[in-house]
Amino acid sequence: MSEVAAYTVRDGVAVITMNNPPVNGLGNALRAAILQGLQRAAGDAQVKAAVLIGAGKAFSGGADIREFGKAREKPDLPEVNDFQDGMQKPLVAAITGFALGGGLELALACHYRIASAKSQLGLPEVKLGILPGSGGTQRLPRIVPASKAVQMMTTGNPISAEEALQLGLVDEIVQGADLAAAAVLYANKLVAERKPLKRIRDMKANADVDFKKVRDAVARASRGYPAPLEIVACVEAAVTKPFDEGRKFERERFAHLIMTNESKALRHAFFAERQTAKIPDVPDETPTRTVKQAAVIGAGTMGGGIAMSFLNVGIPVTITDTTQDALDRGLKKIRENYAATVSKGRLKQEEMDKRMALLSSATDLNAARDADIIVEAVFERMDVKQDLFRRLDAIAKPGAILATNTSTLDVNQIADATKRPQEVIGTHFFSPANVMRLLEVVRGAKTGKDVLATTMKLGKTLKKVPVVSGVCDGFIGNRMLEKYVQQSLFMLDEGASPQQIDGALQKWGLAMGPFTMYDMAGNDIGFEIRKRRAKERPDFVYGKFADRIAEKGWFGQKTGRGWYRYEPGNRKPIPDAEVDRMLAAYRKEMGLKARPISDDEIVERCIYALANEGAHILEEGIALRASDIDMVYLTGYGFPPYGGGPMFYADTAGLDKVLAAIQKFQQGYQGAQWKPAALLIKLAKEGRRFND
Ligand code: NAD
Repeated sequence: MSEVAAYTVRDGVAVITMNNPPVNGLGNALRAAILQGLQRAAGDAQVKAAVLIGAGKAFSGGADIREFGKAREKPDLPEVNDFQDGMQKPLVAAITGFALGGGLELALACHYRIASAKSQLGLPEVKLGILPGSGGTQRLPRIVPASKAVQMMTTGNPISAEEALQLGLVDEIVQGADLAAAAVLYANKLVAERKPLKRIRDMKANADVDFKKVRDAVARASRGYPAPLEIVACVEAAVTKPFDEGRKFERERFAHLIMTNESKALRHAFFAERQTAKIPDVPDETPTRTVKQAAVIGAGTMGGGIAMSFLNVGIPVTITDTTQDALDRGLKKIRENYAATVSKGRLKQEEMDKRMALLSSATDLNAARDADIIVEAVFERMDVKQDLFRRLDAIAKPGAILATNTSTLDVNQIADATKRPQEVIGTHFFSPANVMRLLEVVRGAKTGKDVLATTMKLGKTLKKVPVVSGVCDGFIGNRMLEKYVQQSLFMLDEGASPQQIDGALQKWGLAMGPFTMYDMAGNDIGFEIRKRRAKERPDFVYGKFADRIAEKGWFGQKTGRGWYRYEPGNRKPIPDAEVDRMLAAYRKEMGLKARPISDDEIVERCIYALANEGAHILEEGIALRASDIDMVYLTGYGFPPYGGGPMFYADTAGLDKVLAAIQKFQQGYQGAQWKPAALLIKLAKEGRRFND
């Protein structure tokens, strides 16, 4: 029939097999082939029923993401669904693996559905800021209770075949391996028993919900994202309107959502995540090494979290530290972390035991001898790291990857302490390393391509989002953050309070404002960085008030006081009148005049500072693409998903507007610290975007 779908007749049943790897994405060719197969089955006098099934591991994962943003050819999915509805012979969807999005909509337009036991069914469109646009919002509430339909579509989470069976979404679960044979039997049984054609479109929805209450609950949970509420409106239409009217309404709401900035940002993030692994001069077929055994050096905050990241995916780890004491403390913390997850019911005790059994420890560095990768997480000092790498060079097995978790030091200098700089790479985990998804993979000047490819692959195995960064101070994320910090401190000088700045940025959507973040990370860390900067780069100016806080020993949460006050055992920041008084006195002493600063100015200055530094980073080739920078902020710095990342946010605002704003800031307080990137100026002039 065609390359993407096969048509065969078995025992009087037409079997249309979708074959569009990897997930039977419903691209132009497949939709046309399905329709052709259905038409053929309808017109074939020998055929009494038809089965729709997926070759490979899936029924269908929905729209073909490779065709996103490209013109759709006819027939579209609603046309295919209309033909399904009109069929006079029983049509059975045979679901293996998963039926998601358009894939489930295709199955919902069949008369019956059978599924293999392990399959998953869902409508995840909300995760891209849209809604199921081919009848999903109208058919699902006609087959499962409306409350369940709302829940499935507003969370986007799939349900198991077992649950689908209980809900009536699936008619039968098939235990055996040959789903196609079972589907043919099932179809023949329908024919023999003269079962009616169960058209969901003709059914009445089960309205088991109070829509006002549902709307309120969904509005609270969706925090400003428009898609969930639109989904509720569509389900309400399914309950109150005839099918065709509901379909029309769904189509309108879909067309509206697809144009929103939120959806554009979520779709950008979806593709950005899939892009990070693509490195222009390291092709996909670059050979990778096997990583079966890891070692972590340093059992501190980061070392423990990094070790857990390996254990969580079943890779054995040996952890070393200089003293038994340090090691014991580190091991205790790992055990406590797992135990806390077990007590919350999110991990089984057996699973914890299994993970802990993969962990060994030693005070002797030689224990790292057999590891395929050694990740160093010791003190942030060049002499300490170089000495360690010299020793690792002497003991590590040939072909072992030597990785450093440094946040600021020059990976090339660390690599040059060894005789095998091609094996050295940076793996910059974020704290807590067992939780945070971001992994900056720092490519040294001499890092081997296979070492880079292996580390990127390992990042995915560890369930991280690996993003390549070149060597520079702070790599991508922290280098940009420094400009953001700089603006936040300048605004204190100019008249804003820590809580106003945090409040404005949190309201805008950041997971936490800068001053809450400083208190969490420890104000001693920023203090050290500023002291170092004053020597290394005296041209980089900071607001001085932060030093007053650090000099008092107010390091933040860990000392119970910082930019905010903290009650014992509570991490909630409480505004501190004493800090306000100190700030007022400081301004007086420095001859600074406070002025009112609007929330909009706070957001623009902080976020444009990130985007402008991101542009410098792009210019210098430190990041491979703007979307990688966006991923760094989305997965490592609590950037709101609906902003799409700082580069995407600047794109959305319009680079000409961003440039104009920066030029205005150049006229303001400490304006000389703003240097619009040449790339920003160029793109703004050409009317282009970072993420073109
Ligand atoms: P930490 O002080 O909590 O832990 C460091 C550990 O290394 C200590 O247990 C120490 O005993 C051990 N150690 C020191 N020298 C050693 C040696 N020669 N051999 C073996 N063990 C040694 O520090 P941390 O916060 O875990 O930071 C570790 C590294 O990770 C640093 O390079 C830091 O810049 C980087 N990093 C930290 C964070 C963070 O948020 N803390 C985030 C990203 C990266």
